[in-house]
Amino acid sequence: MSSPQNNSSWISWFLGIKGNEYLCRMPIDFIQETFKMGLEYFTETLQVILNPGYGMIHARYIMSERGVDNMRQKYERRDFEVCPKLSCRQKALPVGPSDVCGKSKVKIFCPRCKDFYEPRSDTQLDGAMFGTSFSHNFLAQWQNLRPQPPLDVPRLANANTGSNDVTSTTESRNIITIGNAQEQ
Ligand SMILES: [Zn+2]
Repeated sequence: MSSPQNNSSWISWFLGIKGNEYLCRMPIDFIQETFKMGLEYFTETLQVILNPGYGMIHARYIMSERGVDNMRQKYERRDFEVCPKLSCRQKALPVGPSDVCGKSKVKIFCPRCKDFYEPRSDTQLDGAMFGTSFSHNFLAQWQNLRPQPPLDVPRLANANTGSNDVTSTTESRNIITIGNAQEQ
């Protein structure tokens, strides 16, 4: 039989493997809930199932409320690297080019350049561990983390002067509304 301690230390070991830094730690109860839904005859230890399955559950986890918050903390720690463009260096997000296991390795997405790049680390993680819709969901959830537009996009000069007739200018430069998304 599996014990919570065994499973918890297995997860620590698994997450500590070089190249697995992008993965977040899933709570045991989330994993158990997932298996209750799909596997009626689940009698093996979690770790037997988890080794190939962690990524599959992970893609679900990071779309959940707890998971997306967990990923926000990793994003803010730059666990997912930064945009390789020297002029950008925006914090990046992991993405899967496909939701099907075995199709592609994980890529990183720069939310400022809106482009995809190869990770610099030697991660071998499958892109399906993150999935195709995670980055979109993440940025929809955390609108205040959306980066400013690229530096080479014309910016509104003196936007912070408190002038009261900016309406005509903002209409023609709607790109700046991206940077003003945080309202609270
Ligand atoms: Zn970039």
